[in-house]
Amino acid sequence: MTQSETLFKEAQKYIPGGVNSPVRAFKGVGGTPIFFKHAEGAYLYDEDNRRYVDFIGSWGPMILGHSNKLIKDALHAQVDLGIGYGAPTAIETAMAKKVCELVPSIELVRMVNSGTEATMSAVRLARGYTGRDKIVKFEGCYHGHVDSLLVKAGSGALTLGVPNSPGIPASLAEHTLTLDFNDIDGVRKVFDEIGDQIAAIIVEPVAGNMNCVPPVPGFLEGLRDVCDQHGTVLIFDEVMTGFRVSLGGAQGFYGVKPDLTALGKVLGGGLPVGAFGGKREIMEHISPLGPVYQAGTLSGNPLAMAAGLTTLNAISEPGFHDRLTEKTNAVKDGFKQAADEAGIPLTVQSAGGMFGFFFTDEPSVTRFDQVTACNIERFKAFFQGMLKEGVYLAPSAFEAGFTTAALTDEDIEFTINAARKVMKTL
Ligand code: PMP
Repeated sequence: MTQSETLFKEAQKYIPGGVNSPVRAFKGVGGTPIFFKHAEGAYLYDEDNRRYVDFIGSWGPMILGHSNKLIKDALHAQVDLGIGYGAPTAIETAMAKKVCELVPSIELVRMVNSGTEATMSAVRLARGYTGRDKIVKFEGCYHGHVDSLLVKAGSGALTLGVPNSPGIPASLAEHTLTLDFNDIDGVRKVFDEIGDQIAAIIVEPVAGNMNCVPPVPGFLEGLRDVCDQHGTVLIFDEVMTGFRVSLGGAQGFYGVKPDLTALGKVLGGGLPVGAFGGKREIMEHISPLGPVYQAGTLSGNPLAMAAGLTTLNAISEPGFHDRLTEKTNAVKDGFKQAADEAGIPLTVQSAGGMFGFFFTDEPSVTRFDQVTACNIERFKAFFQGMLKEGVYLAPSAFEAGFTTAALTDEDIEFTINAARKVMKTL
């Protein structure tokens, strides 16, 4: 028995499924989740002292690599000053100012403690601001475990949404319309009929929860246009893409301005942080300025702000995202080459510091049905093979991979050599 196997057995006695977030249980790939005890730079070390090159980075936050000295120093300094006060601090303003500078569509920003809280609050604000109940989301996008957003499509675009999980009232889910990602004609059709009832469109500008699916040209621009025509609030969920696709997020990269943005992951540098922000006129509806209620005991706490602000400052170094993108491209090209050599059909897609690979004959993947049609069994075998070789990829065919600044050329070569070896066994 490995230490991970022993620890997983023990964990299952006290924690549902042995994990505090479902994807960690390796359900999508089989086998036992790895328990980690230490991380440094590009590497994770498990309880059996095995090393892995990490392409998850705590699901995104660790864009600088693990145990970054700047972040550790900032945290130690703040611990010495105080752990938290539940009252205003200067560092919250410094953080808010930095976010507003980096993401120009954000004029006012409110800190929360997770991506889920960020999207939940953004949707409430959009509903409160417009006085409308309906929202539009896209199949294959994930926005956290918010009741209104854990909803799948009914049998047609205009039918009522259906809860994705027990515990969500059908009477709430029916206000959520789930449309096809990258299909602007479908969106226009729905808005032509009931646009004046729709409070918000929420979208991952690069879909990272159905592997990695960038927007087709015109899709995000089309959403902007539809929202302008119908007085609907456009929400970009940049929890994953924010500060990763480019310094200004996906909105900076694609040049489309949402009304509201949800942030998380990189924003907190590894501590639990989310935020939502946007147009002043809309944000002024949030309490205590306005009537839309939102609050948080630990929101903006100084430890989280110290880790987050240090991260944002570090990634603001000129050329940071160019270098990160180069690393992503090297991994992407290496995987493709390894697959070609082994005669395995593979499509690899990326945006800045995120990537995804699809075991498919399709030259590009732009739709959710193409994602689900990929060879999932082959993905599982590849994942397990890479894990044995010491490469930790996302344990699901539907999650994007992340690169970090800590990845060296040698780490990338190590990873590609592993991919060569594993592809030949598939
Ligand atoms: N939005 C997106 C796009 C996400 O990827 C996630 C988490 N993976 C969330 C929201 C929810 O964030 P959290 O897990 O911090 O609640």
